[in-house]
Amino acid sequence: AAEEGFDLEEVADDLAEAGHGPLPVLAVVGRPNVGKSTLVNRIIGRREAVVEDKPGVTRDRVTYEANWNGRRFKIVDTGGWEQDVLGIDASVAAQAEFAIEAADAVVFVVDATVGATDTDEAVVKLLRRAGKPVVLAANKVDGPSAEADAAALWNLGLGEPFPVSSLHGRGTGDLLDAILDVLPEAPAMTFGDVVGGPRRIALIGRPNVGKSSMLNKIAGEDRVVVNEIAGTTRDPVDELIELGGITWKFIDTAGIRRRVHLTEGADYYASLRTAAALEKAEVAVILVDVAETLAEQDTRIISMAVEAGRAVVIAYNKWDLLDEERRYYLEREIERDLVQVQWAPRVNVSARTGRHMEKLVPAIEAALAGWETRVPTGRLNAFLGEIVAAHPHPVRGGKQPRILFGTQAGTKPPRFVLFASGFLEAGYRRFIERRLREEFGFTGTPIQVSVRVRE
Ligand code: GDP
Ligand code: GDP
Repeated sequence: AAEEGFDLEEVADDLAEAGHGPLPVLAVVGRPNVGKSTLVNRIIGRREAVVEDKPGVTRDRVTYEANWNGRRFKIVDTGGWEQDVLGIDASVAAQAEFAIEAADAVVFVVDATVGATDTDEAVVKLLRRAGKPVVLAANKVDGPSAEADAAALWNLGLGEPFPVSSLHGRGTGDLLDAILDVLPEAPAMTFGDVVGGPRRIALIGRPNVGKSSMLNKIAGEDRVVVNEIAGTTRDPVDELIELGGITWKFIDTAGIRRRVHLTEGADYYASLRTAAALEKAEVAVILVDVAETLAEQDTRIISMAVEAGRAVVIAYNKWDLLDEERRYYLEREIERDLVQVQWAPRVNVSARTGRHMEKLVPAIEAALAGWETRVPTGRLNAFLGEIVAAHPHPVRGGKQPRILFGTQAGTKPPRFVLFASGFLEAGYRRFIERRLREEFGFTGTPIQVSVRVRE
């Protein structure tokens, strides 16, 4: 039989992994140079040191997945914050604010060899007011002689300082144990999901595309107060909004409404927010401003949503500003720059006039349906058998790799594992993906196809 030899155990691993919902989020906060990035590297076991002494280095990724004693969580590295632009105090305060809103627990890193500074004290106030669990890391305790420096940090009033050396690993095990003691098993916002709560939507897009205008239009008078709904966890940064007769949870509306519009450095701040919102969301409504040329920032945000594996709807906003000429160029820009999300439902809306806003809900529902699609194994293999027969992989070095068997290892988004008798070329894999979409739809969702070569 075709399925002979595929590794059940591996498939089971895939399923376990895919079945895991969103992970709790840990943010690492502290002044520049206290060792945040070094600590993050240590926790996620990143081998190469991406620690750079250049301030203002922006990184593409800000969240990483970590695993300690079998517990998985996300860790947010705020080490790349643009200190130059924001100034140290503002930058550190912004981190704290971010952590307060987005994280389930916070590690506050202090350089024990320097001791607590005024900036540290200010952050402590912010953190304490927020009431999120905080673990205090007294870093750069490279040896026993520095233990006393760590003990001095009891004065911050955050409880026990954990002496660690992020550089050498000393004490990081105890720190991680303390973190996992306070970090919830699952993020607060998935609770609603477990009891069949509202679907989670993130409105994302670069500054000024119209996120807060759209939110206002959507919310209108129908806003529901979060704590009125039984069984939902209170999270003041998200809002429950009724739309098309259904209650939805809009993620990080506090962040959208606040409209932090820094002229510079805003990019990085915005991408942190976007990453955090995507982490919590099931579907991303990505706003694009049709009056402006598509920017690199637009495509980056789209990539973030795709890479996060979220359902995607593209909302072309400010449609009221579109004239014939701009429309001509827009269509070409879409073809050129948005090929990666050809499969995403599109709505052409105006948050100002309300044009076509009623099309949003059907688009979101279509995307969520695609995201949750499960293809039965029998049907998948019948389909794979047909395309392999009609379009075999090209012969390479006298051999012809064949797909032996496939299975859908998970949903949200759909993930497939193909078992093959040899290496499948990228072009052939893309062909398979394209055919999978043609056959099964997958509107509004990224799909992942991985190939295991049977030895
Ligand atoms: P961040 O700006 O808070 O992310 O700090 P970095 O992780 O970039 O570290 C700043 C500097 O402190 C780097 O030169 C690190 O090598 C150093 N550093 C970080 N952790 C430790 C530590 O535990 N001991 C010592 N001695 N140096 C450290
Ligand atoms: P955000 O930064 O993404 O939250 O964007 P805002 O909602 O603050 O909108 C930025 C600017 O675009 C504001 O001046 C809005 O009035 C304007 N705007 C938003 N949506 C529309 C729209 O559909 N049409 C027009 N003409 N202007 C819009």
